[in-house]
Amino acid sequence: EAISTSFKSLSDKFDFTYLQNFASGNGPYNRGNLKSATLDQVGYIVEPNNVDFKFINRRNLKGKPAEILKINEERYKEIFKKEITEPKDFDIDTIRPPKEGENYVLANATIIALVRNHESSMIGKSIRQFEKKFNSKFNYPYTFLNDQPFAESFKRRMAKYSNAPMEFVTISPELWNRPDFVDPERQKKEMEIMDKHNIAYAKKESYHNMCRFYSGNFYNVPELQKYRYYWRIEPDVKFYTNIKYDVFKYLEGTKKVYGFTINLYDIQETVKTLWPETLNFLNQKDNYKYVNVNGAHQWLLENLQNPQINKMTGGYSTCHFWSNFEIADMDFFRGEAYNEWFKYLDSTGKFYYERWGDAPIHSMGLALFADKKQIHWFRDIGYFHDPYYNCPRNPETQLCETSKFSKWEHLADQNCMVNYIDNVMDDLDAIY
Ligand code: GDP
Ligand code: MN
Repeated sequence: EAISTSFKSLSDKFDFTYLQNFASGNGPYNRGNLKSATLDQVGYIVEPNNVDFKFINRRNLKGKPAEILKINEERYKEIFKKEITEPKDFDIDTIRPPKEGENYVLANATIIALVRNHESSMIGKSIRQFEKKFNSKFNYPYTFLNDQPFAESFKRRMAKYSNAPMEFVTISPELWNRPDFVDPERQKKEMEIMDKHNIAYAKKESYHNMCRFYSGNFYNVPELQKYRYYWRIEPDVKFYTNIKYDVFKYLEGTKKVYGFTINLYDIQETVKTLWPETLNFLNQKDNYKYVNVNGAHQWLLENLQNPQINKMTGGYSTCHFWSNFEIADMDFFRGEAYNEWFKYLDSTGKFYYERWGDAPIHSMGLALFADKKQIHWFRDIGYFHDPYYNCPRNPETQLCETSKFSKWEHLADQNCMVNYIDNVMDDLDAIY
């Protein structure tokens, strides 16, 4: 395809310096000038020396992914050994749950769950734990979203799980359905190919609708306009930690825009041209101005642990925040940078011709347009969505195995957390 080939050489050379130049406007954004700036030249991984960890320069192991993986696995275990409690970069005592009878002003926030009527018992399981571990202390309102009207039985059932206010929203077809400009013939052809390659949900149009909705439209739902912050939950997830502070007020107070728990690689075939298309967007007009100089760029381009991935994606590591857990600020997504970019991505039709997930889309948007300091790892919150965990060691966390990443050993190489920590986080211990 024309786009991917024209960007292939660019992506190979695409690096931090290039993005900085992009953002500051004083660099050469002429592709011909990029030849001398490789990831290796700018220093890719800043090796940590402030932790009790055998110092090994991973950059010298380029081309040896098995060795890289071993080091990263060890480092992950090492990091999780430390007992951690609550974040240190905010006065948590000012955002404790209200005592009985105390007048507490909630943050402008809601719990979001996109679900189908038949998922009532699975979302119920999640809500029971969610209430026990967090929300019964605050009573943040729920917003249930569905492309079909919610059944009365569904609504009655949800009311049993929580005393918090609940709103049940039917998403309008304009925000949910496949747009008219998508060519059904091409979609069918591409879906067949992805399906033959065993990509989950490849042929399921509703899944593509869901990914597109969560990528670019959920924050435009009329009933969500009154809110700024949200916590996204899903059916059949687990919460292991008793959370004793208001996570929304934590984001608000620290001016952070996004919080995650799990950080992992994606199926490269689902996002084959997401990065080349993004570069295409950034090269148009003066769109480079949207790039944040302090973005999490290196994490986007990480290429040591699974280098075969970057080859297929034109440079993108596929590392992303797993979006089934998100605590975030919708104003970031509503902003001009993210929206202009989303509109461009949408116009390519590739939410259907490929299977771009909302997780890599949110993540790439954040890594490019937000300051990395505005992205928060909720390291203290124990969480599980099949088959991955975030399981910290702390007295409030129970029933998960500290430092376990996946139910299945063979998925260890899917973990991108260490790459995030070592490439992006300045000082891990300053926050926890
Ligand atoms: P996975 O986690 O990627 O395997 O995907 P899920 O099946 O968990 O879907 C992600 C979220 O979107 C869950 O909250 C689902 O309940 C929801 N979801 C997926 N497809 C649909 C759909 O067609 N309609 C509605 N209303 N919700 C959906
Ligand atoms: Mn899920």
